[in-house]
Amino acid sequence: MPTPHMPPAHPFDDDKLREECGVFGVTGVQDAANFVALGLHALQHRGQEAGGIVSHDPEQGFNSARRFGYVRDNFTSQKIMETLPGPLAIGHVRYSTAGSKGQTAIRDVQPFFGEFSMGGAAIAHNGNITNANALRRELIERGSIFQSSSDSECIIHLMARSMGRSIPDRMEEALRKVEGAFSVVAMTRTKLIGVRDPLGVRPLVLGQLGDGWVLSSETCALDIIGADFVREIEPGEMVVISPDKGVESHFPFRRRKSRFCIFEHVYFSRPDSILGGRSVYETREAIGRELAKESPVEADLVCPVPDSGTPAAIGFSLESGIPYAMGIIRNQYMGRTFIEPTEQIRNMGVRLKLNVNRALIKDKRVILVDDSVVRGTTSRKIKEMILDAGAREVHFRIASPPTAWPCFYGVDTPQREKLLAATMSEEEMRDHLAVDSLKFISLDGLYRAVGEAGGRDPKQPQYCDACFSGEYPVEPADMLEQGFEMKAAE
Ligand code: SF4
Repeated sequence: MPTPHMPPAHPFDDDKLREECGVFGVTGVQDAANFVALGLHALQHRGQEAGGIVSHDPEQGFNSARRFGYVRDNFTSQKIMETLPGPLAIGHVRYSTAGSKGQTAIRDVQPFFGEFSMGGAAIAHNGNITNANALRRELIERGSIFQSSSDSECIIHLMARSMGRSIPDRMEEALRKVEGAFSVVAMTRTKLIGVRDPLGVRPLVLGQLGDGWVLSSETCALDIIGADFVREIEPGEMVVISPDKGVESHFPFRRRKSRFCIFEHVYFSRPDSILGGRSVYETREAIGRELAKESPVEADLVCPVPDSGTPAAIGFSLESGIPYAMGIIRNQYMGRTFIEPTEQIRNMGVRLKLNVNRALIKDKRVILVDDSVVRGTTSRKIKEMILDAGAREVHFRIASPPTAWPCFYGVDTPQREKLLAATMSEEEMRDHLAVDSLKFISLDGLYRAVGEAGGRDPKQPQYCDACFSGEYPVEPADMLEQGFEMKAAE
């Protein structure tokens, strides 16, 4: 059930995987919290449920504000921003992390703060700790008192138990005990800290703003504050940024081959971000081209399912020579008007958000390009709308392989049995959606599109693709304990 504070972030859109968090931090500029608010606004697509900022000022110490709702509705208020002074600040936007899905309380909203003998520290975490239940049990048995239901709070308690002499040392020791995916942005009174897990599952980048430094989940949030993109934080890297020493980098974890989330390329990241040295937009266009090569079909129009299917639809059109058209128009002004929809409005579902451009569609054979099929509920409704508008044929082309497995690394996924591809073959899905044809890009095709010319290395995949392949790069220990069954080895 939704909390009284905030209903689900996308009342009409429960048919997408959802990134659960974005993190951002700035040091070395006046009123750093203002920059953090702008950065979080640019990362809002990574989490719309709640956001928080912690700042530090040499005279006023640490201050924090945590709120439900959009960044623009909270952190533009002068009254709030005046409470967050200082040259150093970090922030977090969230959907909801493990432990409290759909029941967020303000105590679950990050950044989390801890007071240690050597001073305070705040942390903001993007990802998911896969052994959090075991860690939490052990910490509680040893006397830790948890304030939230979030897996991320384990990091603060592990730091409290560490004998490290500095906060970065304690953080390092804490994170060595943590399994799963983490991109962490943290701060002490004087330092901004960024860490990525050894596999680098979730993104984190470093930027420069005048004499100051920035850490961000994505490069699009550097652009909004006019910061220059310096580089990605490497998998397993920790950077400690201080006014006297600048950026210090080291690698506290055992080096492993990286397994970045391939779905960031397909859907989660904004198309104006840079990932792995390539524009996300260009990668998505390449996915569309690859899809057109793999699964051509005779048709009159290529239409994106807006907005996330757009670059792939353009790529499909360019490769196939079939004209591109905006056959479906998105209502840009959904948002908060219907944020607590009545049952009647909820039943109107997709029609409130998307409308078919009838004049274009009538009597046409239409290829619809979407980024993914999760439950299939939206795809079905869109197909009905297109047929109602007089289309002769509907062909679905999907810019990711069938999503048949849940993600345990910081993405909200339905239980496995709710994933259409977990229970049906491609042909069965086509019949279920009642479309003329349905094709997904192959896993190899997706790898080629993201720049791996030789496709996926089956012995040592270059990315995390567990939601497609069922091959989890980090064993999801908590989920196994709860009875989740991994794919049997082939
Ligand atoms: S399981 Fe899927 S969504 Fe999750 S990290 Fe891996 S590729 Fe990304």
